[in-house]
Amino acid sequence: MYDYDLLVVGSANADLVIDVERRPDAGETVLGSDLAVHPGGKGANQAVAAARLGARTVLLARVGDDTYGRLLLDSQRAAGVDTVGVLVGGAPTGVALITVDPSGDNSIVVSPGANGKLFPVDIQAAACLFHASRVVSVQLEIPLETVVEVVRSLAPDSRFVLNPSPPRPLPSEVLAACDPLIVNEHEAKVILGDACVSERPEDWARILLAKGPRSVVVTLGAEGALVASREGVTRVPSVKVDAVDTTGAGDAFTAALAWKLGTGSALADAAAYAARVGAAAVTRKGAQESFPTADEVAAL
Ligand code: ADP
Repeated sequence: MYDYDLLVVGSANADLVIDVERRPDAGETVLGSDLAVHPGGKGANQAVAAARLGARTVLLARVGDDTYGRLLLDSQRAAGVDTVGVLVGGAPTGVALITVDPSGDNSIVVSPGANGKLFPVDIQAAACLFHASRVVSVQLEIPLETVVEVVRSLAPDSRFVLNPSPPRPLPSEVLAACDPLIVNEHEAKVILGDACVSERPEDWARILLAKGPRSVVVTLGAEGALVASREGVTRVPSVKVDAVDTTGAGDAFTAALAWKLGTGSALADAAAYAARVGAAAVTRKGAQESFPTADEVAAL
């Protein structure tokens, strides 16, 4: 019997957002809106998304001993995430400085802060969480050696889900553990590198699969997703919605997919459910604020 449906290992950031008429050039100062502070970071987002759907979720992350760290802990707890694995201190909380112009284009500077201090030794110290969790979900806003240690810490019958964001080349040990590797179009192209010889997502999925993962999911925004395993490639349709803000759609999709896999769903069924969750998330502004409950997904 597992204590948790999902262990998320990853980043937690405070997103500091200012709306501007025009994003500043080098050396320029522009005036903007009042500052809005939102809890974010891919790990924190995934944990909130899963918990809101009803998954018993625990987060393993590091925040600073500061105001933003407390904001992040509060938002996790409010969503029902167990924060027993959130380490506090060692560096300031990670921050993303975001300016957004009226067309929706943004410029972002990230200070990883405490996310960069989530070390392999922290993973080793949390061994009990790995044994208590059915599925482990990770992204790449933490050091790569920490991700490698996660793979080495997996319980024999648990399942490892990776969204390689921000994308970078991955060691074969990590790729081989993914079931699935979940990428959007940009991430697929970066991970494939020179092997990206086609513009067809079906080909990306096949070539990615040949690199070692047990399964691959390519998310395609409003076009839904592709699921690839040894049995072949299947298209998962999207749900038609009026998209308001796509921030966090990938995090909601990944969290939902990971949770459903843990409940025993087949990959294509889990991806179809995740597509509904992603679609629901784009109908509202923001990231964590936009994540739906299971009832809202059912009503979509
Ligand atoms: P990311 O946020 O990582 O770029 P995507 O944009 O591919 O990821 O979105 C993840 C998933 O969310 C998609 O596979 C789809 O199921 C859902 N989704 C995203 N945008 C839309 C949209 N405009 N309409 C319906 N579903 C969407």
